[in-house]
Parts: sequence; C-alpha cells; structure tokens
Amino acid sequence: MLAVTKITFSYKDHPVLSNISFNVDKGNHLAIMGESGSGKSTLLKGIFGELHLNEGTISWKERPLLGPNYNLIPGESFMKYVSQDFDLMPYTTVSENIGEHLSVFEQESHESRIAELLRLIGLEDYASEKVKNLSGGQKQRVALARAIAQEPEVLLLDEPFSNIDQFKKNELRYRLFPYLREKGISVLTATHDSNDILSFADGILVLKDGRIEDYQPTEHLFKNPKNKYVASLFGVVNEVPLNALKEYAKSNISILVYPHEFEISNKSGLVVYVANNHFKGNFYLIEGVSENGQLIFFNNKSSLQVHTKVFLNISLQLVNSRLKPLNENES
Ligand code: ADP
Ligand code: MG
Repeated sequence: MLAVTKITFSYKDHPVLSNISFNVDKGNHLAIMGESGSGKSTLLKGIFGELHLNEGTISWKERPLLGPNYNLIPGESFMKYVSQDFDLMPYTTVSENIGEHLSVFEQESHESRIAELLRLIGLEDYASEKVKNLSGGQKQRVALARAIAQEPEVLLLDEPFSNIDQFKKNELRYRLFPYLREKGISVLTATHDSNDILSFADGILVLKDGRIEDYQPTEHLFKNPKNKYVASLFGVVNEVPLNALKEYAKSNISILVYPHEFEISNKSGLVVYVANNHFKGNFYLIEGVSENGQLIFFNNKSSLQVHTKVFLNISLQLVNSRLKPLNENES
C-alpha cells in the first residue's frame, strides 16, 4: 500500500501542499483532481521523490521513501512517473524509445513486449518512425508505453491524455486503465478532466490551493460533492435555494443540483423562463432565468422556445441526499 501521511511542501516561502494524507492499495486507482495551480503536479512530484518535503512521510509497503537526499537518481525504481512534459529521445524510433526501458535480462522477449505495448497505445504502424516526426499526442502515448514497459508497481500519470485528440483519448482510456488493473499496478492520475477518470478511478481526491477539499470513492463523490468547487469538476452545477420550492418555503438552505437532475413539468415547480438553448448531440443544454437567477437544465428531445415558462422539480430523494446548510462551506 502507498501511504501518504501529512505531507507539506513549499517552493521557497510559497506554500503549495498542506497536510495531505491518503492511501492507495495495490492495484487501485486514485484520481487527483482540482483546478489549475491547485497542486496536482507538485503532489505527484513529491510522491515520486523529486522534492524535499517540509513535513510528512510517504511509504510503500510500509517502507519509507526517503526522497532526493538519499536517491542518487531521482525517483524510486518500483514507481514510474509520466510528467506533463514527457521527455523522449527524439532522434530514435518509437520502438527504440520503448525498448530502452525494458530490462536487459529479458532480451529474447523484447520484440514481443514492444509489439504488445505498441498495440496497447495504438501505434503499431509507427514502430520504426523517429519520435521527432510524431504529433504531440503520439509522443504522449510513447511516454505512456515507456512508463509501463517494465510493469512498475506504482504509476503516476500527470494529465496523461492532455495532448491526445478526443477520438483517440477514449479508445486509449478504455484500453490502458483495464490493462493496468489487470496487472495489479497502482495508479495515481492527476487531471482536471473528469472524463479521464470517472469510469476508471476507485476514488477521487480533490485539491484546492494545496489542501484536500474532498476525498471519497468516485461514485459517492460525484453524487455527494462536498461543495460547488467539487461539483464543478464534473461540469455545470446549480446552487438552488430550497425556499424556491413550495414544500421548503421556510428553509434557508441551498443544495447543489446538476442539470440532468432537474425534472421538467408543465404543472408546478420552480418557475423558469427559457433564455437560451445549446445543442449537445443527444440532449439540449438550456439556460433558464428564475427568480433566483440563472438555472441550467437539460431537455432530451428538443430545444425549447425562448421565453417559454417551464417548471423544474427536484426529487425528494435528491433533496434529502444533498441537504446542506447554505453557508457550511464558506467558513
Ligand atoms: P497543478 O498541477 O494543479 O496545475 P502545480 O502543482 O503545477 O498545480 O502548481 C501548484 C502551485 O505551485 C502553483 O501556484 C504554481 O505556480 C506553483 N509552482 C509549481 N511549480 C513551481 C516551481 N518550480 N517553482 C515555484 N512555484 C511553482
Ligand atoms: Mg499540473
């Protein structure tokens, strides 16, 4: 198990990480999410052993990792790290870049292992291409293949699909993450894009200004985000004062509601006038204006005429699961 305990880190006198603790079991996948500058990359660098931590400990299988003062070459051998600026050897081929990371003791199996990795990252046709001729996304895929070539026990991925186009991204996620799970490799993925990890991570740790803002199993965190910052990592979210609903007229509490969670009715509910429609493929995202400001909701079949009055409802079950004092997270 990877155990991170109360780590704190500053660049000179600029604090970047404060009191971060979490565990990752063997073969599990933890996502690190948060806005740009929240400390995701710094956290991964700290775990990899590139930083002199101010406080706290990191251990793997109960053995403490000692950091840059003790390791001649930065990083731990059982761990691989794919940084945001993956560095490859530009003048050698894709195969050579990957092969260089395979063990010298397995010379005979090199070719079949390289072929397997090329299939995994979808670059079979580029085996003999020089890396300098590849696109940014292709280079990123080579960096991934290099990192997993020797099946590390822990893999740290920093925005691993950021340079890869949408179409290839999905294919790669669905191939890579199940492969890593099958091999029992523990994974930490830093990303600001929930699509990267929602279907694959066991848990999500959310950072804000270098602190843990929320930390829960994936599905639970999505359904019970601690506050608006956390919910916003998954897209648009509404903050609805409950007293806008008849049943809760006396309430001074507001709840978070994702656009897909509103039910549209033509009888009763929160009164909203349609202001704008946005085509999203298999649904429409609709901006509405209510007494309490803008509300965003989805309509599945069609757009709605501007100025149309609609009623939005929130199920009792949802209200109960989201009930939170209005100011709980502002202190
Ligand atoms: P994220 O990956 O979530 O975008 P980072 O970990 O890269 O965030 O950065 C967190 C904070 O640390 C930011 O305020 C950033 O400006 C600062 N930072 C990152 N790298 C350095 C550095 N080498 N020197 C000084 N400050 C840095
Ligand atoms: Mg980063």
